[in-house]
Amino acid sequence: MHGKGIIFSIPVISSPDTMIRWPLLALGHFTTLNTTVRYSTEHRSVSGRAMDVNFGGFVPISTVDWRGKAVCTVFLRGCPVRCTYCHNSSILSGNDIRSIEEVIGMVKSSRLLISGVVFSGGEPTMQAEALVALAGAIKNMGLLVGVQTNGVYPDTLETLIGLSLVDRIALDIKARWQRYDNLMKVPCVDRVQRSFAICRAAWQSGKISEFEVVITLFRGYEDEVPYISHECSDVDLVIQQGVQGNIPPLSCSELKKIADTLNRPVRIRTREGGEISYEGNRDRWIASKR
Ligand code: SF4
Repeated sequence: MHGKGIIFSIPVISSPDTMIRWPLLALGHFTTLNTTVRYSTEHRSVSGRAMDVNFGGFVPISTVDWRGKAVCTVFLRGCPVRCTYCHNSSILSGNDIRSIEEVIGMVKSSRLLISGVVFSGGEPTMQAEALVALAGAIKNMGLLVGVQTNGVYPDTLETLIGLSLVDRIALDIKARWQRYDNLMKVPCVDRVQRSFAICRAAWQSGKISEFEVVITLFRGYEDEVPYISHECSDVDLVIQQGVQGNIPPLSCSELKKIADTLNRPVRIRTREGGEISYEGNRDRWIASKR
């Protein structure tokens, strides 16, 4: 679950539903972490076999995963890192293999009530071939596509953007770059930095309509926020209340005080207050830019 640490959507398993055929949109190939993978936006792999996805869960209707929109949320299983605070640890590993058609059928069952689909996890970009096929099918339905990601698979993001299969990306940045690999326990900072650059460029050029950096903030880690804010000073920033174990989460008013030090508008997400836009002392942060 990206935006991890605070529960907005919880995956539930949907009943099977099937049977849609989608035209072939594109064929190509891209490079993942260690291998070159060919992809197809049809829900068959390029080798012609029926395409499967390692499924994590499904929320038929969510009003919290895409601000201002009703969407359904598809959770894909698996993640290469292990955040101690992950609220979806049950889908970080294991297998629940479903056909692409079955997942499309779930989305279709919500079609009349939604304007888009958000992919979360786990890490949805880890299943590049399946995600591209699903996003292609969903775009063919006339729906918007959003992806919540930890940024560890920049090639998948680049492919989705290149094929115009994604409208919104929410990228987690978990710490200052110097601390990243130590925190994530895997060497990934270069990949996350590349994802950030790809998404920012896509947003600035209009290839995606929405891009936000999300900080999930836990008490004791407040000093990470100014650093991350500086790194992404020209994109939307969300400070999200982190919830872990018995540690009291930062309250909305505490998060506002932290935001006051940034001299920029932010959005703040908390369990108690939902999501708010916060400008703090606008005169002060405008003056700080003069
Ligand atoms: S990056 Fe992976 S382990 Fe960390 S919160 Fe997201 S899904 Fe969980």
